[in-house]
Amino acid sequence: MSELLALTGLTKRFGGLTAVNAVSFSLERGEVVGLLGPNGSGKTTVLNMISGFLPPTGGRITLNGDAISGLGPNHIAKMGVARTFQLVRALPSLTVAENVIAALAFGRQKLWDAVARDAALHHLSAVGLAGRADQPAGSLTYIDQKRMELARALAAEPELLLLDEWLAGLNPTELKTGIDLILSLKDRGITVLLVEHVMDAIRALCGRSIVMNAGRKIADGPTAETLKDPEVVRAYLGD
Ligand code: ADP
Repeated sequence: MSELLALTGLTKRFGGLTAVNAVSFSLERGEVVGLLGPNGSGKTTVLNMISGFLPPTGGRITLNGDAISGLGPNHIAKMGVARTFQLVRALPSLTVAENVIAALAFGRQKLWDAVARDAALHHLSAVGLAGRADQPAGSLTYIDQKRMELARALAAEPELLLLDEWLAGLNPTELKTGIDLILSLKDRGITVLLVEHVMDAIRALCGRSIVMNAGRKIADGPTAETLKDPEVVRAYLGD
């Protein structure tokens, strides 16, 4: 395996609040890693810095060895980093296929309109949604909105996919579908960093987990061990 992403001393301050405090970790290519921690511990801020939505106050991020800290979201997307958001960001009056075509424009592929639909259908098939391509996105059920969100992220042909509570709010049957979908990404060699509160999903998906508390990284290792770490248990009980 080789290193895809590395964070070194990554820090973000909002006024007097240090939301992310000197966090360092790296991801090997092909890993599926959980980023855990109580509410307000800084997880989403880390994702926002990796994906370029927030500039770091300090520290460094590299992708394939190249510094990406401080680059904007479109630039970072073109380098192979895609993400989902906690709130699904669909364009409800466009069709499902059109939503994915809109996402293609932000990715690494430059496509003529004539082939854009084929590419969109390819990504929709990968998430089991090709049959709904021509429906308005606003008519989708919740799990299908999640599928479309994932297809939009995949449209960027990412090497690294950041999932921000993508499994939240799914019922047990949908959760199994969602977990299987993420496993299929792993089979495709996509590296995944997922912020997630659903512990069953973390155990099923993440060989390794990183835990944050109050802006700091407090644990990083095999998920089964990390979840038993006394400092991690204390952090969750104190939430
Ligand atoms: P988590 O994702 O672990 O719940 P966040 O990264 O969302 O945590 O937030 C970490 C801390 O930073 C919280 O105290 C939050 O209120 C604060 N924070 C996040 N974004 C901003 C912002 N844009 N401006 C000011 N404070 C923020």
